[in-house]
Amino acid sequence: MTYDLKPGDVALMGIPLDGHSSFLQGPAFAPNRIREALHCGAANLTAEDGTDLGATDRFKDTGDLDVFEMRGQEPIDRIENEAAARIATGARLLSLGGDHSVAFPLIKAHADRHQGLNILHIDSHPDLYDTQDIGPFGHGCPFARVMESCQINRLVQVGIRTMNKHQREQADKFGVEVVDMRSWHADLQLSFDGPVYLSLDLDALDPAFAPGVSHHEPGGLSTREVIDLIHRFEGQLVGADIVELNPHRDPNGMTAMVAAKFVKEIGARLLMR
Ligand code: MN
Ligand code: MN
Repeated sequence: MTYDLKPGDVALMGIPLDGHSSFLQGPAFAPNRIREALHCGAANLTAEDGTDLGATDRFKDTGDLDVFEMRGQEPIDRIENEAAARIATGARLLSLGGDHSVAFPLIKAHADRHQGLNILHIDSHPDLYDTQDIGPFGHGCPFARVMESCQINRLVQVGIRTMNKHQREQADKFGVEVVDMRSWHADLQLSFDGPVYLSLDLDALDPAFAPGVSHHEPGGLSTREVIDLIHRFEGQLVGADIVELNPHRDPNGMTAMVAAKFVKEIGARLLMR
């Protein structure tokens, strides 16, 4: 291992994988675009609560996984093993996708370590398909795989606005709590008992705020509303991912900057003990 993690550290990990995307490629190039936005000099590294990620030695970048060419089960196993190795040190993991297929192995690694894990899933899509043309590890399937294979206390989805009949049946089968955009209120207060994993798909945001995603889905959350969700939920955040940035659709890098903002706000919350 080329990284040196200690308990309480926050480990950044890039996952350059987009071979499980059903529509467009591009998210494999996201991790470095987010790092560039984070360090571009246009903004400092201080989160809104005053936590300065640039001033602490507990915020560590562990680089990218070697999964770019992989498809199917192989990258799923690799991601789970690499995530498990990092969190076994007591560090908390903040992963940068990659398409949303990476969430299944990431959550599996966290569920194995944290009993009674809750998931806060922010997305325009429920990602509960049993399978897709690209197979059972497609980026529309990860939360079906999670609910089949992991011990999960609660899966709460926020931002949903594409629920079809099949996924409604899947949500009912798995007991998923869905806060869809039709019933969204900005003062939503979420409260979890025990550890929480946050999976943040950038297409939860309205395309006006985050155009650099593969699936534009109008009628979504604002950047401010997602930041407020990150700040306000009750529960202990133990790990997170930010997925589905597609740099090919993000010509002036504005969505990468939104992702970098979320790295700061999520990173600050992960650093809280
Ligand atoms: Mn998704
Ligand atoms: Mn999505």
